[in-house]
Amino acid sequence: MKRYSYSRLETYENCPLQFKLRYIDRIKSDTESVEAFMGSRVHESLEKLYRDKLMEKTCSLEDLIDFYHSNWDKNLHEGVIVVREGYSLDNYREIGKRCLESYYHRYFPFDHARTIALEMPIEVPLGVPGIKFVGFIDRLDQREDGTYEIHDYKTSSTLPHQAKIDQDKQLALYQLGIESLWDDVRDVDLVWHYLAFDKELRSKREREKLEMVKKEVISIIHKIETTDSFEPRESPLCGWCGYQDLCPLKKHTFKVSRLPPDAFIKEDGVQLVNRYIEVKNQMKALKQEEEQLKNAIYEYAAREGVNVINGSGYRVRIRVSKKPKYPSISGDRERYSSLVEVLKRAGIWEEVSKLDSNRLVELIEEGRIEEEVVREIKAYEEIVEDKRIFTSRIKGVIEK
Ligand code: SF4
Repeated sequence: MKRYSYSRLETYENCPLQFKLRYIDRIKSDTESVEAFMGSRVHESLEKLYRDKLMEKTCSLEDLIDFYHSNWDKNLHEGVIVVREGYSLDNYREIGKRCLESYYHRYFPFDHARTIALEMPIEVPLGVPGIKFVGFIDRLDQREDGTYEIHDYKTSSTLPHQAKIDQDKQLALYQLGIESLWDDVRDVDLVWHYLAFDKELRSKREREKLEMVKKEVISIIHKIETTDSFEPRESPLCGWCGYQDLCPLKKHTFKVSRLPPDAFIKEDGVQLVNRYIEVKNQMKALKQEEEQLKNAIYEYAAREGVNVINGSGYRVRIRVSKKPKYPSISGDRERYSSLVEVLKRAGIWEEVSKLDSNRLVELIEEGRIEEEVVREIKAYEEIVEDKRIFTSRIKGVIEK
């Protein structure tokens, strides 16, 4: 039985390679972002707060903050990393504390509803053989009117818009999970606590939307199960990725950013790129000079009334002639199309047009060709290696 969860799907959607390394190859990363570390400490503190309440024990704000700090110290390890420049572990520790304090003041005495479960494992019935979809509900409550509330704590530093909350899949999936557990689950509120903003966001899901979420999730799982291509997807999240030393997009940066300046400059890759850029720049300058010289030669030829000009070991011959030019697909589209019509009518279109492989690939990818035709086209397909080099400037960090 294969296990899936919302965070696994989210990882796949953010970066298929990260998904493969973490969940298929099961490679453990020894780093943990301070955001994730702080989030875990806040979650376990809020669990304690409600657990104490369930056990008829009072948890004062002081107890809660002591618990948070002691867990912070107990769990802190060398792999906890701060990615955002200019901030320290202590800044995050303080944010976590502030989240708990504002939550405590806002909801004290925590009796707006009956708490049913804390950190509740939940299975979502997707009905896909061989697939088990699981998750954890931070807190499940039931109000006096019978409405269930699925609570989720967030410690992130960005506050989503309501529109994004209304599209969220995670809690919708958990709703499907709890609906399969009890007969009295009719009305469900999805509740997010954005603790750093002292903000509560709510949403509801109609049956139709729940079914849509279920379908979307099944389709993502199907995609993962049937592909063997897990390409890296670069994004601002890369800074928080624990696999930079394994990722082909980040491995070299990871390696050389740790080298002292003299070793950095001698590293093979650094030397190759530096020389490549040098040659490219020289070629660009030479190309410009070649164009300037050609123009000067045309001018000289016209001024002197000659077609041949001698140098020491070479001579150049200048030919000036007029040749016809017709509209192209990348120019005036209207004139191009009407010319094509003329050529088609004359029955010579096939002789003067040629197959545009790149456009054909685009049309297939855009799904604009019928499947049956695509199958026929694919019979002529040959996969060839396409190697290219793209250059870009590095912003700051590893220029040494
Ligand atoms: S560094 Fe970025 S692109 Fe590479 S695996 Fe991690 S998230 Fe993906």
